[in-house]
Amino acid sequence: MKRRDFLKATAAAGAAATLGGCTREQIEGKKSVHIKRRRKVKLKLATSWPAGFPIMGTGVERFAKMVGAMSGGTLEIKVYPKNILVPALAVFDATSSGQIDAFHSGPYYWKGKNPAFALFSGAPLGMVASELTGWMNHGGGYDLWRELYAKFNLYPFIGGNTGVQMGGWFRKPIESLDDLKGLKMRIPGLGGEVMARLGVNPILLPAGEIYTALERGTIDATEWVGPALDIRMGFYKVAKYYYTGWHEPGSILELTFNKARFESLSDEHKAIIQYASEAMSTQMYVEFMDQNARALEKLKAMNIQIRDFPEEIIESAKKAMEEVAKTQSSVSADFKRVYQSMEAYYRLVKPWTDISEAKYLSIR
Ligand code: CA
Repeated sequence: MKRRDFLKATAAAGAAATLGGCTREQIEGKKSVHIKRRRKVKLKLATSWPAGFPIMGTGVERFAKMVGAMSGGTLEIKVYPKNILVPALAVFDATSSGQIDAFHSGPYYWKGKNPAFALFSGAPLGMVASELTGWMNHGGGYDLWRELYAKFNLYPFIGGNTGVQMGGWFRKPIESLDDLKGLKMRIPGLGGEVMARLGVNPILLPAGEIYTALERGTIDATEWVGPALDIRMGFYKVAKYYYTGWHEPGSILELTFNKARFESLSDEHKAIIQYASEAMSTQMYVEFMDQNARALEKLKAMNIQIRDFPEEIIESAKKAMEEVAKTQSSVSADFKRVYQSMEAYYRLVKPWTDISEAKYLSIR
């Protein structure tokens, strides 16, 4: 072929490729499919956190932005802080009924619906964040969580992890088990049940009332999260002893959708939500680590006493947790199944954690 003819032929092939060799009807048809796929889907997501709440609140905002960008603007998730659309702890019911499409919160808030739900946040003296995520993805955790939430027309994803939470703020030092007897402490969930077996009087208080109760001595101690969020609550001004953690070793946060609504989404949008939620979880965990470290530095400069609970308390807490699990398992078959699944994964993963991360952390 002469060079001129070759160029002509190539140009013609290019033009054909542009039209894709399609008839007018086929092109119109493709256009309408394209338009259908790009129709905007809007979802309403409510959280249990105040507007702009660090790490948890800001993390969800970032997730929604990420979903918008990844979907080319075809999936819009509008985030509502607590009490805007629904009260902070009404998000589960509102999503279940379809009043809203999704929520961001913590599974242990719903233990009144089913005692097993507390375990999807993790268990006192149990697995840490990486192990819990392993259990969810490879040890049957997600299957159980989704099976039990399906009864409420809900479909959950891990929506973050706080990492190890601190054991709490105490007005007086805790030297022995005796020092816990009759102590009034704000501590919810399974940790509170364990503390009750050690003689503590666990108190439930809304976030806004904890500081005043601690300042006035209405309570003797409180747990919250970790340095980053605790420093904002001002507890260091009224309680000088800050104990290391055991009761929430890696609390899972949740991003949960109305199941029917989630199933109605395109495969593309479902995949975007899955991967954006995994990115959000990793970012939240890392942000907790970073902000806790920075806040710890400030607390240390304020002469806060950081202490470990005496060994007899930790050993007694381990025994008490076994009793709590036994009691809960006897009244709830779901709790029993979930706890057994967690325990099986813990027994599998602990020997490896012991000779890898735990070993390394003890020598570095
Ligand atoms: Ca806590």
